[in-house]
Amino acid sequence: MALLEAKNISVTLGEHRALGSISLSVQSGEWLTIIGPNGSGKSTFLNALASLQNYEGLVTVGGKSLSELTARNRAQLVSYVPQDPIVPLDMLAGDYVLLGRTPHISALGVEGKDDLNIVGEILSRLDLEELGSRSMGSLSGGELQRCQLARALAQMTPVILLDEPTAALDLGHQQQALDLLEELRRERQLTIISTMHDLTLAGQYSDRLMLFDHGTVVADGNAEDVIKVELISGTYSARIRVIEVDGAQVVVPRTKEPE
Ligand code: ADP
Ligand code: MG
Repeated sequence: MALLEAKNISVTLGEHRALGSISLSVQSGEWLTIIGPNGSGKSTFLNALASLQNYEGLVTVGGKSLSELTARNRAQLVSYVPQDPIVPLDMLAGDYVLLGRTPHISALGVEGKDDLNIVGEILSRLDLEELGSRSMGSLSGGELQRCQLARALAQMTPVILLDEPTAALDLGHQQQALDLLEELRRERQLTIISTMHDLTLAGQYSDRLMLFDHGTVVADGNAEDVIKVELISGTYSARIRVIEVDGAQVVVPRTKEPE
């Protein structure tokens, strides 16, 4: 049985139909990446899955309808790193990551040893230990983005939603973050739904790509099925070439032909 199911998800923003009846099933341990040009509805869809956006339709995780759960119970099932999160700038980075444990700590309780161990392990796996005692406001864009990922991972949910999780990261840190997600997928069957602009990386790490255009799904399959010159160049209005390197589909932009 699928772990997460979305049925006929539609979202209207003002007069704009941002998403038109999208349905999908995601298996436990699957990594699905949504790709598509700016404004195609990727963030709106993740916001709906995260219950941060009003939508028509039904989202279930493990058979439970998310809209019928309390915020605390939802936060035990689904963690989310939005595209532009609002972060408390004067909070210490270590305390910020510890916020991920909130849904597991009783209302009057304080964090226990297990919570601190979980946070410590994630900080270490993302090479963030040194930053724990720095204020969030003092971090670089990339460091901030890695702390946001750490907070969501500390939440230890079966499903994680990531909106462009590597947008602010250099190449090495992109691979570090994506490699950690891949390890957690194998270690604890973490189910990942992400969006990504780098189509080559998206294809390398995900089992499945879903191409959005104007709020609808125009392709759904593995990298070989979806990263095709005609499909990608048409949807993104871009000049590209796709070459295969070590079994991966690599998207190479083409310069404009001289007139
Ligand atoms: P993506 O993440 O794929 O870039 P988004 O999901 O952020 O796209 O946006 C989907 C579309 O909805 C965009 O065209 C955006 O301009 C539009 N949109 C967002 N909010 C509103 C709003 N309040 N009213 C009208 N259109 C909106
Ligand atoms: Mg977006």
